[in-house]
This record gives sequence, structure tokens and C-alpha cells, in this order.
Amino acid sequence: IRMHENSIVQFELPDGAAGSDITIKRENATLVMLVRNSEVHSARSSIRYVEDRFNKNYHYPWLFLNDRPFSADFIRMTKNLVSGVPTYAQIPREAWSMPEWVDRQKARECMREMASKNIIYGGSESYRHMCRFFSGFFYRHEMMQKYDYYWRVEPDTQLYCDIDYDPFKFMRENKKKYGFVINLKEFASTIESLWPTVQNFSRAHPDYIHPNNALDFIVDDNKNLTEGGYNLCHFWSNFEIAALDFWRGQAYTDFFETLDKTGGFFYERWGDAPVHSIAASLFLDKEEIHWFYDVGYRHHPFTHCPEPRKEYHETGKCYCNPTQNFDRNGYSCTRQYRRMRGDLGVQKSINEMM
Ligand code: GDP
Ligand code: MN
Repeated sequence: IRMHENSIVQFELPDGAAGSDITIKRENATLVMLVRNSEVHSARSSIRYVEDRFNKNYHYPWLFLNDRPFSADFIRMTKNLVSGVPTYAQIPREAWSMPEWVDRQKARECMREMASKNIIYGGSESYRHMCRFFSGFFYRHEMMQKYDYYWRVEPDTQLYCDIDYDPFKFMRENKKKYGFVINLKEFASTIESLWPTVQNFSRAHPDYIHPNNALDFIVDDNKNLTEGGYNLCHFWSNFEIAALDFWRGQAYTDFFETLDKTGGFFYERWGDAPVHSIAASLFLDKEEIHWFYDVGYRHHPFTHCPEPRKEYHETGKCYCNPTQNFDRNGYSCTRQYRRMRGDLGVQKSINEMM
């Protein structure tokens, strides 16, 4: 066990332990979970799912992050559930606090007002730190530096299908930068000034907008970036498999800084999901965005369940209920995603396979 400053606990596995198997060719990647000590049982459940459906064959390391030091109990209760090397690290204070340019009085009033309107997490300051952390800090954490790819795992999530290939290798070999499972509409009341901020940023940095971008996923009716409104579509970021160099690159770095300077993470309640999704849709080639359709996944209250029975269910690969697939829900943005991909015909062929 190695102890660092800033409460980092790292384990080194003994020779012969699963995670030290050098015959398995792994990508430069990690599983990562932001979690509170009090969520230990929810964390254990998610770890079990990821290990059973995937990681028991690959032994990728796990990085656990927390704004507080991890308790000895959290570490004891998780370190033997993982099949790769676990690291427990505290987040530095600057990545979990209001920057000095944020007017605290105004932030408090905004939170009170949003709480009184019953906006989800509207009154929570810690939720805002969490969203800002995932928007602008996790990829800069000391313990993330050495990795090229990550898979974000949340407590209390479920996986329903065997993942019998390495999604990180898939990302690298197919030049993918951002991978998701579920997409949906954001609550407009949490991001009122986000889109105008994005429009201003895009006007100031037209060179960052990729010529083959995924704008059609986030703007309806063939409108362009300046004329069109945000349709609230975003990738649900509680599941993410992505390349860290995208977040670390100049476009996203400038983008996050511009957003952060407005104080919108605190005066409103900007989520990391719309922030990541808008950036991916504007700055990436649409070919670099990947839908992990084959990953059966649930985060309360939505499930993605692959529908084709022959391929996913009769083979024994998945055990979710395809009739609960969120893709068909009115709040899903699968339609917008397919329009952006130019393959609205896919839905029909999936139906035919069933
Ligand atoms: P929701 O999925 O949007 O309802 O939000 P969650 O409560 O699941 O939070 C998102 C992620 O951030 C989860 O991985 C949580 O464990 C984590 N998280 C949220 N708030 C905190 C916090 O105050 N401290 C820590 N350490 N983790 C947090
Ligand atoms: Mn959650």
C-alpha cells in the first residue's frame, strides 16, 4: 500500500493476482467512480456488475474518487471485489469549490429560488460541485494523468449484457472519442443561459467547430448553430467510455473555461451531461461518437436494453426486458441521434430482426 499526499491509497497486487496478469493485453485505460463513503453498498453492486459482465476477463484498474478521504471501511468493502488494481483518491479542493469569481450571495439566492421551484437538485451545492468536477476536472486529476481512456461507472447502476470484447480497444482501433448508451432531454430550467454561452463561444472560435460535426443531434429543423435553439438532447453521462485527450485538448479546455467563467455551474445548475454532449457534438467528427447499443444498462429510472432477440437474447448474452428499452420513450433522443447519423432506417431493420 502506498500513501500519497491528498489522501491517495494505492494497492499493488502480488504476482499471480488477476490484475497483475501480463499475458492480458490491456489498453491504457481505467474504470473510474466518483462516490461518497456512504454509498459503499451501491458502489459494491455496480462493481460486481462491471466485473461479472466484463472486467473479470480484463482486470482493468479501478480509480475511486471522493471529495472527502475514503474511509477504511469503504476501502475494506471494495478492494477485494475488483479484479484490477484499485486506487482511492481524494479530489483536490480547487476541483470541488466555488471559484473566487462566483458571487456567493447570488449563488445562494439562485439555489434557494431553484429549490422553491422544485427543480431537481436545484437547492444542492454539492450536486453543482459534482457536475463542475465532471465537466472540467476529472480528466486532470493526478491519478488520471497516465490514462488515455476511461469508463465512468456510477453507484447503483446495472449491466445486463456480457461485454465479451474490450471497449477501450474498440475505441482506439475505430478512432472513437466519446461513447454512450442512453440519450435523453435535459430539464430546460437547469441550463437557461447555457446555449447562448455556447453560441457566443462558437462565434468566437469558429475554427473549433468540426466540419463533420453532430449538430443535428442537438439542434432541430435543419437550423444552424446561430439560428437554432438547443433541443435539450444529451448523452446520459453516468455511463461514459471516452478518450481523455478530447477533454484535455485546446477546444474543450477553452470551452470549459468560458463556461466556468460565467458562473453558470452555480447560478444555474449546468449538468456535465449537456456540457460534455454539446462539446462532443460540436468539436468532434460525428464518426468519433459511438453508441454502445450492445451494452444493456440501467441507471434509475431508465434502462437501455438491446432489442434484437436473436442476437442479444436468444444467445444468452443479455437478460434485460427489451420492452423496457428507453430508446422508444418520448424523452429519448434516439430519433435525433439517428437523424444526425443519417440512418433513420435502422429502427425498421431492428424491428424486422425481432
Ligand atoms: P444523479 O445520478 O444525477 O441522480 O446523481 P448522483 O447522486 O448519482 O451523483 C452522480 C455521481 O456523483 C455518483 O457517482 C455519486 O456517487 C457522485 N456524487 C454526487 N455527489 C457527491 C458528493 O457530494 N461527494 C462524492 N464523493 N460523490 C458525489
Ligand atoms: Mn446517479
